[in-house]
Amino acid sequence: MYIPGLDWSNLIVAEPGAAYQFEASQSKRWIEVLVDCPGATGIYTYKLPKEMLSIQPGDILSVPFGTQQVGAIAIRLLERPPANLATDKIREVEDIISAGFFSSIYWELLQKVAEYYYTPLMQVIKVALPPGLLGKSQRRIRLKPEITLSADVLSTTARQVLQLLQAQSTGDYSITYLQRQVRGANRGVKELLRRGWVESYLEAPKATKPKLQKAVTLVGSGFETDVTPRQREILEILRRRGGDMWLSELLQVSNANSSTVKALEQKGYVVIQEREMLRAENSPQLAADAPKTLTPAQTQALAAITSLNGAAQVLLHGVTGSGKTEVYLQAIAPLLARGQSALVLVPEIGLTPQLTDRFRARFGDKVCVYHSALSDGERYDTWRQMLTGEPQVVIGTRSAVYSPLPKLGIIILDEEHDSSFKQDSPIPTYHARNVAQWRAELENCPLVLGSATPSLESWVGLKDKETRRQGDKGGRGDRYYLSLPERIGARPLPPVEVIDMRHELHLGNRSIFSRSLQTALQEIQATQQQGILFIHRRGHSTFVSCRSCGYVVECPNCDVSLAYHHAEIGASQMLQCHYCNYVRSHPRSCPDCGSPYLKFFGSGTQKVAQELAQQFPQLRIIRFDSDTTRTKGAHRELLTRFANKEADLLVGTQMLTKGLDLPQVTLVGVIAADGLLHLADYRASERAFQTLTQVAGRAGRGEDSGRVIIQTYTPEHPVIQAVARHEYEPFTAAELEQRAALNYPPYGRLILLRLSSTDAEQVEQVALNIASILRSPEATYEILGPAPASIVRVANRYRWQILIKLGDAANLPNWDEVRSHCPPVVSLTIDVDPLNMM
Ligand code: ADP
Ligand code: ZN
Ligand code: ZN
Repeated sequence: MYIPGLDWSNLIVAEPGAAYQFEASQSKRWIEVLVDCPGATGIYTYKLPKEMLSIQPGDILSVPFGTQQVGAIAIRLLERPPANLATDKIREVEDIISAGFFSSIYWELLQKVAEYYYTPLMQVIKVALPPGLLGKSQRRIRLKPEITLSADVLSTTARQVLQLLQAQSTGDYSITYLQRQVRGANRGVKELLRRGWVESYLEAPKATKPKLQKAVTLVGSGFETDVTPRQREILEILRRRGGDMWLSELLQVSNANSSTVKALEQKGYVVIQEREMLRAENSPQLAADAPKTLTPAQTQALAAITSLNGAAQVLLHGVTGSGKTEVYLQAIAPLLARGQSALVLVPEIGLTPQLTDRFRARFGDKVCVYHSALSDGERYDTWRQMLTGEPQVVIGTRSAVYSPLPKLGIIILDEEHDSSFKQDSPIPTYHARNVAQWRAELENCPLVLGSATPSLESWVGLKDKETRRQGDKGGRGDRYYLSLPERIGARPLPPVEVIDMRHELHLGNRSIFSRSLQTALQEIQATQQQGILFIHRRGHSTFVSCRSCGYVVECPNCDVSLAYHHAEIGASQMLQCHYCNYVRSHPRSCPDCGSPYLKFFGSGTQKVAQELAQQFPQLRIIRFDSDTTRTKGAHRELLTRFANKEADLLVGTQMLTKGLDLPQVTLVGVIAADGLLHLADYRASERAFQTLTQVAGRAGRGEDSGRVIIQTYTPEHPVIQAVARHEYEPFTAAELEQRAALNYPPYGRLILLRLSSTDAEQVEQVALNIASILRSPEATYEILGPAPASIVRVANRYRWQILIKLGDAANLPNWDEVRSHCPPVVSLTIDVDPLNMM
C-alpha cells in the first residue's frame, strides 16, 4: 500500500501499546481490506489475530497475499466471515503499519454511496481514490535507535534477524531481503516488533519522487531594446503572469520553442532554474488579497455561517454578483487558523481558474485544486498534500467530495444547482450534493449550498422546511436559509430586453442578430466596453441538409444529424457527431441525389463568430467553448486575454454561465434562447431558467451598469418572462406546483434504468422482461416504460429506459433479481435520482 510521494517514514505507529491492545469486547473478528498489489482487484477478507482486535477501518495493514506480504487498507469490520469462505482458509492480518491513516468516517461515507446508488463498493473506491494509489510497495524493518539490546533472550531466528540489521549501517532492510536470508524470518521479526526493538514501515515507491521542473523567472526591467518581437511577446506573457511561470506552461501558452526562451536567458532577461513542482495545478503568482469590508447582508450571512454548530445545512441564496464568494472566503479563514480544513466544490473546471485565483490570493499555498482532469501524478501529489493533515482549502469538481481531508471544518458547494455535480457514468451515478450532505453529517461539520438560482431540491429542502419549522433541531441537523438579495454596491440587476425574432423577420431582418443587439454591439465597441454572447451550441451549424431532396447528413453510429464544423486551420471542412465524436469530411454534393445545394441549419458558436466577423469586422472576438478550451490551461489563457481587453466580445456556450466574474462586461446577448426551452425533459424549464439567469448575471458586475438582450421566437414563454423580471420565487412556486401534481422530484423520487446493447432486438426484449418483473403485484412504485431512449442509437448501441417513480412509502425493487434477468450482453445502469433523462 502506498500513497506516492508521502513520506512513509513518518507514518509509523508501531507503538506496541496501541497496536497490540486486546479488547475483549470486540466481537468483530474479520476485516475486509483493499489489497494493494497488482492483480489484486477486489476486496478481500482477513482474520484478526487476538492481539489486533483494535484494528479500525482506515488503518493500514500488512497482509499475506499469495507468497508476498503486501500493504492493505482496512475497510470494514465483520462479525462473521462471508458465507462463501471457509473460515480455516481465511488468512490472518500480519501487522498494523499505521493506525488511523484514513478516518473511519471516510469508509463509512463510501459505503453509504455504494448503498444508496446500488453500486459495488469497489466501484465507489475507484471513483474516490486516485488510480494507482494502490500500487506495490515494500514493507521494511528497521532498528529503533535508542533501545539497548540484549540478544540473549531471543530465539535463534530473531537473533539472526537482529544481527543482520545491526550489521547494516542504517539498521534497515526490506522484509523480502530478510525472508531470503533467514528461514522463518517473519517469526523473528514479530518477536522483535513485540519487544519494541524494531519498527516496520512502508517505503515510498521510486516512481513518486518529487518532480523537478524548469521554471522561468523574469529579471528584466521592462525596457528591453535588443529583443525580437517574438521574444518581447514572451516577456509580455511572463509579465502578465506575475513574472514567474513553468517553462512547459510558458511554451504552451506562447507557442514558442525553448530556444527562444534560452536566448532570453542569455540576454539576461530571464532565469531558468529547476524547482520542485507539486504536480497540482499551477497558477500565476498573485498579489495578496485582504478581506473586504462586508456589506450588511454579507455580515449577517457570515455571522450565521460561523455560528453554526455541527452538521447544519445552509442555503445561501444570493443574486448574481451579491458577493457569495467573499462570504465563503471569510467563513473559511478562521477555520484554517484553528487548524481545520475546508472543501469547496464547484461545477466545472472552466470556472475554477478564476475562483482558484481568488482563493489563492487570500490563502496562498494552503489552496489545492482537485479535479478529474489532473494527471495521475498530480492526483497523487494532491492526495499527499491532503493527507498531511495540514489545514488547507481543497477546491475541486464533483469527485473532490471524496478528498481525504482530515479535520474538515466546512463544506461549500458553489453553484449548487449545476447539473455537472451529478455523474451519469460510470457508476456510481452519484450527486456530489448528496454525498456532501452525508459527509457533513458524518464529519459533523456545516454544509453551505450557494446559488443565485437554487435547485428545486435545495429550495424545498432548506427554504420551505426552514420557514415551516423554525428552530426545529430534529432530523439531519439544523437547516437555514440565508439570502443576499442585492448586488455589491447596491448595483442593480441588469435590465433584460426580450426580442421577438418573429417580429424581426417580419420587418425584413434576416440576420441572426436583432436590430437591438446590432446597435448594442456597435455601442460597446464605441465605448470600449466588453460583451458576452451566449449560444446554446458549439460548432458551426447543427445540421446540414440538401435543398433539393431534403436529405439530412446523419451519423452512421447514432440516430442524430452531424454538426458542421468549419476548420480553423487548413482548408478542410468537416461534419462531427456530438455524441460519439465521429468525424467525416463535408460532402461536396448530396450523398442521396447528387445536388450541389447543401444548406447549413442552426447556428453554433463558430457560425456566430463568422457572422460577427462579416458584420462587425472591427470587433475582436474570443470564442469560449469546449472546442477552443480543449488544451490544458486554455480556459485561463482565454479569460486572461479577455480580462486584459485583448478582445471586445466573448462568444461561447454553457461555460459562460458558470460563475465568471468579469467586471468590465456590460452587455450580455443570448442568440437563440429557444434551444433551451423545448427539450423533452421535466427539468427543461428549471434548467433554462437557471442558465439564462446565470448568463444574464454576467452583465453589469462592475462600475458600469449592464444590460441583457435575449432573442427568442417565443417571448411569451413563462421562463423567458421570469428571467426578464429576475423573478426566482414566483417561477419556482409555479414549477413546484407542477412537479407536485405529477409526483416528480423534489417530491417523488425517480430511478432510471438504462439498458443498452449492440443488439437492438435483445435490448428491447430484456427491457420488456425487466419491466414486467418490476410490475409485481406488491410493488408500491410506479413504472413508466420500457421505452426507447429519445436518441435510440448512440455509438452503435441501442438504448432503452425504464423509469421508476417512488412515492413516499414506496418499497424498492429487488435489484439482485432485476440484475439476474439482464444477460451480460446487455448493459444495465441503475441511475438513482437521474438528472439527464435523454
Ligand atoms: P457572486 O459569487 O455572488 O456572484 P462575487 O463573490 O463574485 O459574487 O462578488 C462580485 C464582485 O463583488 C467580485 O468582484 C467581488 O470581488 C466583489 N465584492 C464582493 N464582496 C465585496 C465587498 N464586501 N466589498 C466590495 N467588493 C466586494
Ligand atoms: Zn439531395
Ligand atoms: Zn455518432
